[in-house]
Amino acid sequence: MPGYIEPIEKLIRQFGKLPGVGPKTAQRYALTVLAMSEGEAREFADAVMYAKQNVTVCSVCGNYTDTDPCRICRTRDRSTICVVQEAKDVLAVERLGEYHGVYHVLGGVLNPLKGVGRDDIRLAELFRRLTGEVKEVILATDTSAEGEATATYIARFVKEYGVKVTRLAQGISIGSELQYADEVTLSRAFLNRKEI
Ligand SMILES: [Zn+2]
Repeated sequence: MPGYIEPIEKLIRQFGKLPGVGPKTAQRYALTVLAMSEGEAREFADAVMYAKQNVTVCSVCGNYTDTDPCRICRTRDRSTICVVQEAKDVLAVERLGEYHGVYHVLGGVLNPLKGVGRDDIRLAELFRRLTGEVKEVILATDTSAEGEATATYIARFVKEYGVKVTRLAQGISIGSELQYADEVTLSRAFLNRKEI
């Protein structure tokens, strides 16, 4: 950002790291922070560090948590595992308030072109969870080509364990991300999931 003094430029650069934030928005955010009182600015900065220091990843499901295992892994029905790409997809499903099972966050999907292979996402951790108590694995990865390929790969493996595998009904348009699906669509896709 030409024309700004160094401390402001530095702040703009930090906001520019956030997804969906272009130079103009980063500039607006930085100036908003500068307009805050010192107390507000401190609260803002402290919240970043507080979250960073107190949030960890659940060793079972891979979701963000402040306890390990997370509350969902500790309290919910472990016979059903819903497999999602990212932690934010857990929030999308949780918002429905209809699912009572546990999750498995992959942390991505297989993507040979981008060099994402089997060891780069949490597949081994998922397969390790397939003990006798698991009755169904719901595959809720995106409907993108990579999401589908990942679902197919997981399904083949899970079926070898004699565990039922289902895929969300195709109410969500191809390539759309789970988190952007509206609640009615997502709820219907969940309800009408099909065994594969
Ligand atoms: Zn967990």
